[in-house]
Amino acid sequence: MKTATDPIFTTDESRWQAVVERDDRADGAFFFAVRTTGVFCRPSCASRAPRRENVEFFPTTAAAEAAGYRPCKRCQPTSLPRELAIVERACKVLDADPQRRMTLAQLSDAVHVSPFHLQRLFSRIVGVSPRQYQAAQRAGVLRDALQHGHDVTRATHDAGFGSPSRMYEAVPAELGMTPSAYKRQGAGLTVRYATADTPLGVVLVAATDKGVCKIAFGDDADALVDQLGHDFARAGRVEDAAKMEPFIAQIRAYVQGTRERFDLPLDIGATAFQRRVWEALRRIPYGQTRSYTEIAESVGSPRAVRAVANACASNPVALAIPCHRVIGKDGAIAGYRWGRSRKEALLETERSHNPTDKVA
Ligand SMILES: [Zn+2]
Repeated sequence: MKTATDPIFTTDESRWQAVVERDDRADGAFFFAVRTTGVFCRPSCASRAPRRENVEFFPTTAAAEAAGYRPCKRCQPTSLPRELAIVERACKVLDADPQRRMTLAQLSDAVHVSPFHLQRLFSRIVGVSPRQYQAAQRAGVLRDALQHGHDVTRATHDAGFGSPSRMYEAVPAELGMTPSAYKRQGAGLTVRYATADTPLGVVLVAATDKGVCKIAFGDDADALVDQLGHDFARAGRVEDAAKMEPFIAQIRAYVQGTRERFDLPLDIGATAFQRRVWEALRRIPYGQTRSYTEIAESVGSPRAVRAVANACASNPVALAIPCHRVIGKDGAIAGYRWGRSRKEALLETERSHNPTDKVA
């Protein structure tokens, strides 16, 4: 388990220390290459320790390969642990033909793992079941089709939805949610991020190449960056203000009340329950609120009010999943992951910019 005191390997000194100690917590956080052998390794590799002056560090295996190094045969830095490899194979099968509906049995045949084991493994690592993954994928196909100018009926059919009405049920919440950051702690991914000042304090936005994986508010940019390091301890992390600027511009506009919805691809993992709750949150219209009880009812678990509150509190992307629109039954603001006063300010902004849509 990662704890708050685990190193995050952001300096060459800490990276070298990890190599010397063969620290397996560093695996995935970076790779090291040895100039004299032309080989690159995971930090925990059991082969003979190289000399410091011959070592170079890389954030990803791709970067090491681009610099001309070969993967070590012993620690196999480019191969995933077995369980991840199974899930990655399953995702590849599903990605190969998003229009096709595959049953769990068909998928398990394709990857040579029992249906039970596959279902459990897939849900644990991806955060959704294979069936939900396919639904999200069809939404992705639909989004692409609409962007390329196909009409809705045609696009709906191509995406595998039975009818436009089924599409409208499924799509608003699913658009753009592609959980590729499923590899634990972002192993093998590169996460780009930036921080910026907003009227609500400092915001940190981070994204994989598939979509936004974190939006967080705080009072201190360094603390937010540290937290990102813990959430994505095994990802390569690169500050990239230019790439994040379009996202930050949307957040600023939203906070100032000049924008009502986000057009952000999301790349977040979720348990099946979190996903149901987060989808329900995304259906709450701008300027309106719902109680935790109402959300619990809308996801078909009327007694799971506390679990709904927990799912709200674990939302990784502030605003994009509008957990600030959930309040206590009596209208109390209740808690907010990024601070109660920020929640109050957001609700006030939405109310004052959307007076006609207020809940009676
Ligand atoms: Zn090695």
